Amino acid sequence: MSFEIFHAAVSQRNYPEKNINILLNAVENGATDSGVSATRNLLQMIKPRSTILDSGGSTIHAAEKAGKVILSDPDLSVYKSDETKLNLTPEHVIRAAVALKPTAMVSLDWPLQKRNGERDDEFRKKLPVNLDWAKETARLRQKYVPEIRLLIPVQARDLDQFEEFMEGLSGLAFTGVSLPHRNLTPELLIQYLVRLWQLRVPWVHILGTTCFAYLGIAAYFARQEFFKMVTMDSTTWFVNGNRASSFMSPHNLLRCNINEDTWIPESLRNDCSCPFCRNVSFQDMAFARYSSRSVFLCCHNAWVTEMVARQLYKNAKTLEQLTTYMMNKKAMNDMKVRKAMDALFVAQRQYGFEMG
Ligand SMILES: [Zn+2]
Repeated sequence: MSFEIFHAAVSQRNYPEKNINILLNAVENGATDSGVSATRNLLQMIKPRSTILDSGGSTIHAAEKAGKVILSDPDLSVYKSDETKLNLTPEHVIRAAVALKPTAMVSLDWPLQKRNGERDDEFRKKLPVNLDWAKETARLRQKYVPEIRLLIPVQARDLDQFEEFMEGLSGLAFTGVSLPHRNLTPELLIQYLVRLWQLRVPWVHILGTTCFAYLGIAAYFARQEFFKMVTMDSTTWFVNGNRASSFMSPHNLLRCNINEDTWIPESLRNDCSCPFCRNVSFQDMAFARYSSRSVFLCCHNAWVTEMVARQLYKNAKTLEQLTTYMMNKKAMNDMKVRKAMDALFVAQRQYGFEMG
């Protein structure tokens, strides 16, 4: 299958299963000797099928939001625990890649903040830095770790900015792109995927989401063989399981809080087919100890995310089949799903694609 899910926020204390795909982070996992050592142990323990090393752009994003000073000095450390500043360069990302040997790595990027409306000035300011960092990461990767595949994060808010960004990558050797979820809508994601298909980019990674609507879109493009590989990642399995103790639906991944205060009708059966739910009722979950419920929910949530992705792929032979499947999964009230399906039909008519 050319459609794979990666789990972010995996640690030695919290991992759903062995042999999964995991997303590592150049700051958390690769910026210090202790981080590298703990991550090597983690890799030894989990034996992941594939790993993607994210660049730490998300850390820059958070640091910028928090008003920290952002430095770019390869000779200094990353200041991981410094409250006031962050230092990150393509060299740091490459060092993390050399140490952790992931399957693929993401080049360093300066993400656009999530804002409504047009913010062309932010794009203008960050574009040259993003292109420089992409080129520098590509150069260093070619020199030190040419066997590791390279994904370039595209930081754009609309199709015009996207075109300009891709134009700026002309002539650069890379394996694929990553599309941060932060400024994506279903319509925009489809427009980007169509362009990337036209540009013959072989691998697209959708960064930071595994929600049902986006999974459906990604599954469709993967199943139609527009790309050699379509991948996605998120921390949702962990955030829902660990903090909020939410059970994600094995049908559409919508979450539902389950704790001792939840009213559960007797007739409501747990129909999840994951190995963790065998002989476990919703009542059992609600009254389980907090810590064991968290572990259980993390495992279940990760497993169903992969299962739903597989089912969507299986049911994406045609757009009609995918729409029927998604609507039958009780997603008719999910506006994102409706928007996604409508936009896919528009794109299909416009570009005449579908191999069937
Ligand atoms: Zn389950």
